[in-house]
Amino acid sequence: MTNRLSAREILDKLVSFPTVSHDTNLPLIDWAEAYLGSHGIATYRHPHETAPDKAAMFAHAGPDVAGAVVLSGHTDVVPVEGQPWSTDPFEVVEKDGLLFGRGTCDMKGFDALAIWAMVEAHYAGVRRPLQIALSYDEEIGCTGAPPLIESMNKVLPKGSAVIVGEPSMMGAVTGHKGGTGFHVHVRGFEVHSSIMHTGANAIMYGAKLIEWANEMNAENMAGQPGELDAVFEPPWTTVHVGMIEGGTAHNITALDCRFGLDFRFVPGDSSEDWTARARAKAAEIEAEMQAVVPETYIEMKEFFGVPALKPEEDGEAEGLVRRLTGDNAARVVSYGTEGGHFQNAGYSTVICGPGDIAQAHQPDEFLSVAQFEAGQAFMEKLIEMLKG
Ligand SMILES: [Zn+2]
Repeated sequence: MTNRLSAREILDKLVSFPTVSHDTNLPLIDWAEAYLGSHGIATYRHPHETAPDKAAMFAHAGPDVAGAVVLSGHTDVVPVEGQPWSTDPFEVVEKDGLLFGRGTCDMKGFDALAIWAMVEAHYAGVRRPLQIALSYDEEIGCTGAPPLIESMNKVLPKGSAVIVGEPSMMGAVTGHKGGTGFHVHVRGFEVHSSIMHTGANAIMYGAKLIEWANEMNAENMAGQPGELDAVFEPPWTTVHVGMIEGGTAHNITALDCRFGLDFRFVPGDSSEDWTARARAKAAEIEAEMQAVVPETYIEMKEFFGVPALKPEEDGEAEGLVRRLTGDNAARVVSYGTEGGHFQNAGYSTVICGPGDIAQAHQPDEFLSVAQFEAGQAFMEKLIEMLKG
């Protein structure tokens, strides 16, 4: 495999691998490694810590020096089950200027451009290096990025500016909220409701924690947004309960109540701080329950945590994308990305990728040919810049 593929041919190849988050992504990683390797680019693999059928990969093109521009993408896609697709989701089908297929928009379009750009940069003899980082498990809580970044930093000269290619219509996106979600389990004690004072109703104690969420939302809304936070809509941290279940019958105090408790943080707030506050409130409610029935408890299990991407002052990555795209609009988004993880690891980070987030995760997901071409033009300019 020494032929040089077009970006479009690479996209066709990537979409053909059904890398849904709960399935393997190894065929895609194998292929990308073999393709880059066939052009003389050394690649590195980071195996998943617990799932042997998943891996991340990264590579470096150009001189062996620090300061690379890093192209960051995820290889996993969301499921297609239950979605009415008019075409085979794992084949790129072009129709009326649109490229249909699962992941064309989110985000194999960018992945394809990044792989293409690595080969171009390699042959162009860039003076400033280009790196690629392809992760797993982004769609299930951005959990693949931290081990990938750690692994990269052990092997490659450290890059300085990261472009996360989530769909932004090739505009510069400089910030997003962070998120943390908990599965809450309140374990109560069952008695006949006529003597409820001797039991512990898990639903009614759980409701106290939910009411705390309401209070926090009202308090946050009434507060003055910080300078970093004012650009978000809404410009405050929100706490949300979207699912709840519990109870056995109307005349039994509920033994169990389970619900989700999700935070979306503005950059000025920290996940640690809000997590601590939620846990403190749960502990307070738990103490009340245990005063009645000692074996009751409240358990909070974190099931995802995505750090916010904070808009940077004179950020290098932002400056670079603005120079290459001419886009000067201030823009933040409401979806989470791996960008916050890179930023926390010391990289200047910006989001810029082809396609509209509105098409992500949809049946008949598509990326327009025009956006894909705009993405390729961006990569060409980037390589010119790296040639210095
Ligand atoms: Zn994505």
